[in-house]
Amino acid sequence: MSEHLYQRIDLHTHSTASDGKLTPSELVLLAKEKGVTMLALTDHDTLAGLDEARQVAEREGVQLINGCELSVAWNKIPLHMVALGFDQGDPALLRWTHRNQVVRLDRGRQIADLLVKKGLPDLFNKAIEEAGESQLGRPHFAKVMVREGMVKDMNKAFDQFLSNKKIGQIRDVWPQLEEILPELKSSGCELILAHPKRYPITVTKLKAVMADFKRHGGTAIEVASGNERPDHVRFLERLSREFEFKASVGSDFHGAFGPWTNVGHYTQIHEQEIAPVWYSWQQ
Ligand code: AMP
Ligand code: MN
Ligand code: MN
Ligand code: MN
Repeated sequence: MSEHLYQRIDLHTHSTASDGKLTPSELVLLAKEKGVTMLALTDHDTLAGLDEARQVAEREGVQLINGCELSVAWNKIPLHMVALGFDQGDPALLRWTHRNQVVRLDRGRQIADLLVKKGLPDLFNKAIEEAGESQLGRPHFAKVMVREGMVKDMNKAFDQFLSNKKIGQIRDVWPQLEEILPELKSSGCELILAHPKRYPITVTKLKAVMADFKRHGGTAIEVASGNERPDHVRFLERLSREFEFKASVGSDFHGAFGPWTNVGHYTQIHEQEIAPVWYSWQQ
């Protein structure tokens, strides 16, 4: 039996409010079609898609959990944190998402300048145009580069120009865990370290991240994210027990492109081994 299965719970997905392909409405409809009964929309640094998603979710009988994937940092290493189950008017969350939105624009300008230094034309305005209403991110630069024939595909754009390594110091713009976590902690939402195995760090460092994440108010880690290797999922289940974190799961769906799996699709977890964040939301 395949270890990658369609599941009823998906707590990590993207829409056009950030770098996903589908509108919030289309995402909810696809989730329903795939059998997802509890869905979190977790766009990068924005809550802008939640109202639309909620409207469709209510109509379609899908339980929508408010979500957001925040860009954060630990010792200058960029990390992603998923916040789930907050109140949409939460002042701390609104403040931090707004701050990161400002950072995104400023960082976009810096990325464009860096690309100019590497011999490309100034792509800032085109990336802004590509993003439209969405939160500006590196994928918008990548899309422009593909369209203009500068690279073959998005993957190449990241490999050659946009990876953390390639953008160097520009990656160091996000709030540190110790400044953002204590403020969000008081909101009482779940604060989840996203896709822990995707960071290019050693296990020792990952454990140091988790210890700090816990200390400053983090409540959970994602034990399964999209196409993750089953042995990595077992490893993350073990770490969730070791650090007494709850566990979250999700596809990290962005659309049918790149490395992404479909909505509701991720590696099988061993539910009896973990403390799921979704238990308290189950109706
Ligand atoms: P940013 O939010 O601007 O830091 O951009 C990071 C986003 O780029 C991630 O959330 C992914 O959606 C996307 N991404 C990262 N690596 C790749 C890749 N190799 N191909 C396509 N998209 C990628
Ligand atoms: Mn993304
Ligand atoms: Mn992420
Ligand atoms: Mn994501």
